[in-house]
Amino acid sequence: MHIPFCLSKCRYCDFHSAAASPAVKEQYVAALVRDLAVSASRAKGMTVDTVYVGGGTPTVLPPDVLAAVLKTVRAHYAVSPDAEITVECNPGTYTEGMFEVLAAAGVNRLSIGGQSAVDCELCALGRPHTAAQLAATVAAARAAGIGNINVDLMLGIPHQNMDTLAYTLDAVLSLSPEHISAYGLRVEEGTPFWQERHTLPLADDDTVADMQLAVAARLTAAGYVHYEVSNYAKNQYRSRHNLRYWLGAPYLGFGPGAHSYFGGVRTAIPRDTGAYLDAVERGDFRSLVTERHVLTPHELREEYVMLRMRLFEGIEEADFTARFGVSFEEAYGDLSRLIAGGFVTRRDGRIAFTEKGMYVSNTILSEWLDFSL
Ligand code: SF4
Repeated sequence: MHIPFCLSKCRYCDFHSAAASPAVKEQYVAALVRDLAVSASRAKGMTVDTVYVGGGTPTVLPPDVLAAVLKTVRAHYAVSPDAEITVECNPGTYTEGMFEVLAAAGVNRLSIGGQSAVDCELCALGRPHTAAQLAATVAAARAAGIGNINVDLMLGIPHQNMDTLAYTLDAVLSLSPEHISAYGLRVEEGTPFWQERHTLPLADDDTVADMQLAVAARLTAAGYVHYEVSNYAKNQYRSRHNLRYWLGAPYLGFGPGAHSYFGGVRTAIPRDTGAYLDAVERGDFRSLVTERHVLTPHELREEYVMLRMRLFEGIEEADFTARFGVSFEEAYGDLSRLIAGGFVTRRDGRIAFTEKGMYVSNTILSEWLDFSL
């Protein structure tokens, strides 16, 4: 579920989100709840084992409103008793008692946009919070009994260097999150960063690659498993929700900009909150979906490779052959050069990128696959 609201707009962000009045938020939640209820027939007979409330910043909504949205989900869908239920949170939005209400509503995972523990880096990103607020948010979530916490980090922030990254990693590790995501900053068209891209003090690609390696070394030494190119988990706390995407499992998305993959069809709702509100108001749910794509068998195979090779467990060769009727090497050629170069491993019936291979995976995948990455 996409909540398209934020406290303010971060300078690099091209997600569909904006600050909004309480009245607009109320109208939006009413539409989302209606959409959830009407769409439930699509998931009849299916069990929901992950629920993800993202954005935007879901926690700009009052916690009892988020709790009511989750109640709607439970009322209309067969949510598994042990479902992973995640809410994204910006540390600048934490208010006392928030996490107690969310925990009582079944939220058992919090994904916090930390990005950095260096305040001047947060300021450069236009983030509306400090590093101290990140620590306070994690402590409050733990005190409320939410035992599965992710912290997002960003690499390649203006002014960031290897020393400030090391400081951030130490600070975040001192909070002991169960999961850490570390993504490189992307300068997207249409953002303030895009306009300033020629003067921004950004790290070059080699430095960002060094940062990725430093993160991998520090987090694995601290006991985290590097299970996906940008994701680390300890004690088996891998993101069950994101694994659904990477393993090609079906999901339904709600709200403007949300994507779904259901019955072999990919659909998307336009990034336009006003159009979403109008469509739900009219009860015209069909018009909510303007992009619809039925994957061809060839596209299914390409997606399978592209998504699963993001995971360090890679592809099970027997599963690939059973699904697509050819072996991996029949489809993509001899692997011996990549194995000898230390980019790919092949053991226990699986093909996977090595740590070294993962950082050049786009180049390798573009040799294998038809579409550009
Ligand atoms: S909090 Fe997240 S979604 Fe909101 S503006 Fe910042 S980066 Fe974008």
